[in-house]
Amino acid sequence: MNPSPPILLSVDGVSCQYGRRTAVANTSFALARGMLACLLGPSGCGKTTLLRAIAGFHQLRAGSIHLNGRCLSDARGSLPPERRNLSMVFQEHALFPHLNVEKNVAAGLHAVTRAAQKKIARRMLERVGLSDLSRRYPHELSGGQQQRVALARALAPKPRLLLMDEPFSNLDLDLREKMRQEVRSLLKEFGATCLLVTHDQQDAFTFGEQVGVMHNGAIEQWDTAYRLYHQPATRFVADFIGEGVFLDGVVAANHQIETELACLRGARAHSYAVGTAVKVLLRPDDILHDDHSSRTAKIKKRTFRGENYLYTLALPSGKEILSLVPSHHKHAVGEDLGIVLDIDHLVVFAAADC
Ligand code: ATP
Repeated sequence: MNPSPPILLSVDGVSCQYGRRTAVANTSFALARGMLACLLGPSGCGKTTLLRAIAGFHQLRAGSIHLNGRCLSDARGSLPPERRNLSMVFQEHALFPHLNVEKNVAAGLHAVTRAAQKKIARRMLERVGLSDLSRRYPHELSGGQQQRVALARALAPKPRLLLMDEPFSNLDLDLREKMRQEVRSLLKEFGATCLLVTHDQQDAFTFGEQVGVMHNGAIEQWDTAYRLYHQPATRFVADFIGEGVFLDGVVAANHQIETELACLRGARAHSYAVGTAVKVLLRPDDILHDDHSSRTAKIKKRTFRGENYLYTLALPSGKEILSLVPSHHKHAVGEDLGIVLDIDHLVVFAAADC
């Protein structure tokens, strides 16, 4: 078995404030060397403040930040950004408009001679596939090309850690998807360690080997995207990640949960005493379509998603659930749709906590 890579970035009990207002509250996580991680959360949850604190642009109120074992910041003081051995890529790429591509990349290099700057910049442009465009100016580049220049500039000084703040949000949808993949494989090729901030789940899922979901200034779960989706630790994470609805249930004997739809069974039911009122998360892909099923629900709404239809179905109580069905199964609103349950991971929370 390969030993796990050593921790590069360690964020311990960090709190940040703007005046008396807390933006990051007692937050901790650790990032191993060579990992690509994301901070994901809704607007205002404190992602950018935490990233800026790691970069050295924001003082800590409490806690500490270490990079490779060296203290970068604590409540007593902090190392200036330029002495942290990290690079940051901003949302708008922040290229110098008056410098050509090669000079933009060279501008990230300080402690070397002009000749060395040139050599490194050329090598970086070759690696990101932009050698042919080295004489162009930023306004003569597409959004994706500008992004690669920004990345080349950030990686040129070989930072220990790369920080990226919403790097894909200015790109249109098609390019965004392409650049997520492209930037990810480039960073993997470079063996870079990266922390990216985004409010977009697809960015986080495509890019992040580890994702921290933030809410009200704190990380609620630091995990793989798969586990965030299938085993959310809190009600907020369950709501924020993916789609789904919560169905009322009551824990019965033998670790079963009685719901209006069916009697469900799963490991999480073991955590609650018989008789506990709970909420069970049902994802659209937990509910499959089957014309031969005796269990049916009435179609209230149908949304075309290309490969699939997302059906909103009403149970007899009026409670609505979602079902994702391949789009060659076209049923009309008002019809009863035959359904079967296929729940691999039962996600349950005590109703009292919701
Ligand atoms: P977004 O995705 O919208 O950029 P975010 O998750 O990055 O949001 P932050 O920018 O870190 O959130 O902001 C966290 C909180 O701190 C918010 O409530 C915000 O209003 C507040 N805040 C941010 N910058 C300042 C500032 N300069 N002065 C006062 N409050 C601020």
